[in-house]
Amino acid sequence: AKKPGRTPICFFTAEMNAQVHERMRLEQDLNRVVARGELQLAFQPIFRADDGAYVGAEVLLRWRHPERGFICPATFIPLAESTGQIVAIGEWVLREAGRQLRRWLDAGLAPGYLAVNLSRVQLREDLEQLIREVLDDNDLPPQALELEITENVLLDDHQQINAVLGRLHAQGLRFSLDDFGTGYSSLSYLRRFSFDTLKIDRSFVAPLRDDAEAAALVRAIVAMAHSLALKVIAEGVETPAQQEFLKGLNCDYLQGYLLSRPLDADHFTTFLACCARK
Ligand code: C2E
Ligand code: CA
Ligand code: CA
Ligand code: CA
Repeated sequence: AKKPGRTPICFFTAEMNAQVHERMRLEQDLNRVVARGELQLAFQPIFRADDGAYVGAEVLLRWRHPERGFICPATFIPLAESTGQIVAIGEWVLREAGRQLRRWLDAGLAPGYLAVNLSRVQLREDLEQLIREVLDDNDLPPQALELEITENVLLDDHQQINAVLGRLHAQGLRFSLDDFGTGYSSLSYLRRFSFDTLKIDRSFVAPLRDDAEAAALVRAIVAMAHSLALKVIAEGVETPAQQEFLKGLNCDYLQGYLLSRPLDADHFTTFLACCARK
């Protein structure tokens, strides 16, 4: 029989040790990403469901590591959140999104709005000042930016966060509730804070083709959102069948690989130029 406590643990220790080192190296590298210009934005277009018109894009962060190539956000954002480095990184994202909008507008293109993901730690008093600067520096109206936050952000300390978000909202900034359905959602959040948009997580969109329950769920979410005067974006639309389904369920906007992958700034410029010619 297996004796508890006598199993060799050195193997696990070595592995854990390697993980800790890996984490420390990434953490060190993250300190320099902004200064070294290793961050890059990708843009994924969002379309109106009924007529397919382009309305805006979600900003997605990319890290071009000099030795390791592209590191995906799922790897480094949680780390940057735990160390607080996300504050400086998130500031760069907002400023660069503003500059990019200005470049496209100056080129005579119609970029719509940019939706920027915000981490919980960024929701502090100084966020207001930062957003004001981004809008002023680039001569943008508040509607040019939408701020995406996940429902878990609202879990605790909601008084202070609500105050910051409420003031930004009053200034015309728009908010979307991201990954709806995956967190500890409580419908009361939807009432307590004025979102403009609800993003249905792709885990609800994926089974839409052959799953009647998934369809019922999405239908219910859309109906509830509409009764609260929220628009609905479906994330992760990958097949024409899902697209048709979501249109039939009265979903307002669609985003996903079927319609477009996230594009770098150059490709997005070409995309916008094509939109303009249509
Ligand atoms: P998210 O906010 O839910 O962003 C959507 C993710 O789904 C993106 O992954 C996008 O590339 C991916 N996606 C889009 N369409 C499809 C599809 O049709 N199928 C599938 N399977 N995936 C699709 P990405 O770019 O790897 O970003 C992952 C997460 O990292 C984001 O999830 C967001 O939570 C976070 N993130 C990205 N950029 C930022 C940022 O600037 N700041 C913060 N705080 N978080 C960010
Ligand atoms: Ca998002
Ligand atoms: Ca999402
Ligand atoms: Ca997500």
